Amino acid sequence: MSVITHADWTIDAKCRGMEDALFPEASEQKRVRQLCMGCPVRMNCLSEALDNRIEWGVWGGMTERERRQLLRQRPDVSSWADLLMGGQRSVERAA
Ligand code: SF4
Repeated sequence: MSVITHADWTIDAKCRGMEDALFPEASEQKRVRQLCMGCPVRMNCLSEALDNRIEWGVWGGMTERERRQLLRQRPDVSSWADLLMGGQRSVERAA
């Protein structure tokens, strides 16, 4: 088993190489985010977007609108990485 660090979680991204598809028009966002379901780094991706207030595109299976709503609902969260991954910023994977 090896460990992927926070910095290189994108190596296992299900969308690797097709990032343009993650910035669709609003009507397409819900369809595109289906790609994220089952992605092994989904929580890394989502926490990155939430912690950095990334406003565009689909990250971690959530549209920009959904992320804005979540951020409004939970202003108390100082670290989404800590909340979603228990402070673990790495992904264990079979070698
Ligand atoms: S969760 Fe979605 S947007 Fe994030 S890396 Fe995985 S496939 Fe890409």
